[in-house]
Amino acid sequence: MTEAYLDHAATTPMTPAALAAYARAAELAGNAASVHRAGQRAREVLEEGRSLLAASIGARPLEVTLNAGGTEGDNHVVLGLSALRSSGHIITTQIEHSAVLAPARTLAARGFEVTFLAPDAQGRITGAQLRDALRPDTFLVSIHHVNNEIGVVQDVAALAKVAHEAGALFHTDAVQSLGVLPVDVQAWNVDFATFSAHKWGGPKGVGLLYVRRGLELPPLLLGGGQEQGLRAGTHNVAGVYAAGVAAQDAASAQPQTHAHLRRLRALLEAGLRSLPDVTLNHLAGGSPKIVSVTAHGADGEALLMNLDLEGVYASAGSACSAGTMQPSHVLTALGLEEAAARASVRFSLGRFTTELEVDHAVRGYARALQRSRPFA
Ligand code: PLP
Repeated sequence: MTEAYLDHAATTPMTPAALAAYARAAELAGNAASVHRAGQRAREVLEEGRSLLAASIGARPLEVTLNAGGTEGDNHVVLGLSALRSSGHIITTQIEHSAVLAPARTLAARGFEVTFLAPDAQGRITGAQLRDALRPDTFLVSIHHVNNEIGVVQDVAALAKVAHEAGALFHTDAVQSLGVLPVDVQAWNVDFATFSAHKWGGPKGVGLLYVRRGLELPPLLLGGGQEQGLRAGTHNVAGVYAAGVAAQDAASAQPQTHAHLRRLRALLEAGLRSLPDVTLNHLAGGSPKIVSVTAHGADGEALLMNLDLEGVYASAGSACSAGTMQPSHVLTALGLEEAAARASVRFSLGRFTTELEVDHAVRGYARALQRSRPFA
């Protein structure tokens, strides 16, 4: 059966170079924390991976805290900073990933004050809006770079500047950025940034948190004192090394990838627009990786199942809410009715996606749609 995997924002396959790097490094027996030579050999490979990761995001190796991915990085910043105080205010947005929203709600339940900024019709958060929400007791602003459902890109450099002017720290979830858009934490001048390797061709369950040098952040996991005491646990040497190899490759190919994704997105958009009662939700200036489409009158769950039968793999809203089929909080924040949000599918393209796959997806979607509109 012909298949089209168009779910690269959920996860993208490991690149052959990353797989080979993983296999090589996984042969090392040592624990990177051990002082004997076997441990030191593992340590060297780990540090090589860290350096590649740091260079790919514009950071210094010492500013990279290795961890298990985006969910951990987001939780670490929000919960970690709040552990330094007993009260205060944080600002985030209604359209963040649940890895930020859930800890932010936990803080609210513990008595912290939390503002969830609403995006404008274009999905954007403006500097003026952030300025209005900042207070003397605001200690953290957390706003993502690229939205995983509609692809909107926030001007994190400008937003970080506004936060800093008011004395607040700035965190960005940049999980969907590397390899698609330029990433430079120094140029952005952010204090914390979250990354996850399985979005750029590295392994799942490996990520990093950028922590600007000199900033205090309590650990989320206590134990062996690895990662300068910021993140305990035996290092995943092979995972980190493979993540670094893939990051370097993704970052250097970023301009070509961006151009390729733009071409494919235009093809996909043209195919989808030719279908009846279908509207596109993603934003023109946003990440070219994301295409969000609503088929009015369709049953979203049936649509995804029928797409699967066609060999077309996509997500309903975000992958994390797909299991429960809740209407996407991002689409409803943009003003979509619940029924329309439920009838929405996110296609996401990858660096190695082909025109054939896009063509197959459009045809499969058209057939799936015919079977998923109960009254059509
Ligand atoms: N943040 C965003 C924007 C994401 O898209 C995701 C994954 O879908 C995450 C965080 C969670 O990352 P991870 O899967 O590495 O835990």
